[in-house]
Amino acid sequence: SLFQGLQFLTTVNDLKTLPHEGLEVAFAGRSNAGKSSAINTLANVTRLAYVSKTPGRTQHINYFDFGNERRLVDLPGYGYAEVPERVRKHWQGLLAQYLSHRDNLIGLVLIMDSRRPLTELDRNMLAWFRPTGKPIHCVLTKSDKLNNQEKVLALRTVKAEFADDAMITVQLFSSLKKQGVDEVERVVGSWFAA
Ligand code: GDP
Repeated sequence: SLFQGLQFLTTVNDLKTLPHEGLEVAFAGRSNAGKSSAINTLANVTRLAYVSKTPGRTQHINYFDFGNERRLVDLPGYGYAEVPERVRKHWQGLLAQYLSHRDNLIGLVLIMDSRRPLTELDRNMLAWFRPTGKPIHCVLTKSDKLNNQEKVLALRTVKAEFADDAMITVQLFSSLKKQGVDEVERVVGSWFAA
């Protein structure tokens, strides 16, 4: 399957040094949303993406390789309050540029904590990427922290918001319980197959 065998490729710090070749799917999310854990869970590896003890500290773009010139791009987590304003602005601008102009990018996986999805910063990501017309998959993480009723509500709320947009899909995910792995695989796999 797609994520098994995912390998670390390289780290870049600015848009000028992004690889020229290959197709890529980007993972974006607020710091602490569970993005690194999700990547590790999908790859079935303990420490491929670094689960940070100091969220927002390391601001890099990490490239992982699926093979056959297909990449996963782990974008810097946003929204961590302790990061200086100047640094935050810099990365916001970089994310805006990357999401709106990157030709190699074929789809966005937006990682959001299922207990508080669609924050203002998540909406910024969507606003930058939606005009490209490329697909977006919203992954609502830490679903193990919700009861069944809350799960239904979280899923329904986010789905309802994008009911008129066929390019946006939504699912629940738990790294702790390893739930939702197949669905991410299916969606991301379909993007590369298209
Ligand atoms: P990132 O900053 O988005 O990469 O978030 P991390 O993957 O580093 O996770 C942030 C915190 O949330 C860590 O303490 C993780 O152990 C925890 N976490 C991540 N995913 C889950 C999940 O699915 N369930 C639960 N209960 N905790 C999670």
